[in-house]
Amino acid sequence: MRLILLGPPGVGKGTQAKILVEQLGIPQLSTGDILRSAIANKTPLGVQAKAIVDRGDLVSDEIVNGIVSERIDQPDCSRGFILDGFPRTIPQADALGAMLEQKGMRLDAVVEITADTDTLVSRVAKRAQETGGARADDTAEVIRKRLDVYRELTEPLVSYYRGKGLLKTVDGMSPVEEVTAAIRRALGA
Ligand code: AMP
Repeated sequence: MRLILLGPPGVGKGTQAKILVEQLGIPQLSTGDILRSAIANKTPLGVQAKAIVDRGDLVSDEIVNGIVSERIDQPDCSRGFILDGFPRTIPQADALGAMLEQKGMRLDAVVEITADTDTLVSRVAKRAQETGGARADDTAEVIRKRLDVYRELTEPLVSYYRGKGLLKTVDGMSPVEEVTAAIRRALGA
């Protein structure tokens, strides 16, 4: 199964992806995790991306498209994957469509997870507290910025994928297990 988890920061994409990895036996591809690991390891990509990620902006489509294309070619993705945090712009979605077509693959579904803004802000604040501020972009100021970026650049993907008949929407305000169950119902998986 090839799946996209779509939704604003703090909605639970990463949490749900990790559970679905266990339940469906396919890997999670998180562009945010890949970028954070590159930043921590001070690779050329990490050095280039750090300031952008820390202030809550998006790194270039070219960079993330390359990351995803390479990752999808790994053998563990042959049975499917869960994209978490990609695509985040219409050009990224177009690039994903082209790369999948080129690889002879197609998407099965796009699951949009929703929650109200206050909940998102307080979940990210909680994550910052629990992780001792491990993520430089989990501050109150940067989370507002990331939400603005989401509304402006990523939310248009909802109608993009609805138009392709792939969109399923799940309420992310419920407890974690209920959200997982709703996602699996929506997928028929
Ligand atoms: P995330 O862990 O998905 O919240 O991503 C953290 C940060 O990594 C984002 O705020 C962006 O700076 C960067 N990032 C992750 N995925 C993408 C993407 N698909 N396009 C551009 N930037 C991304």
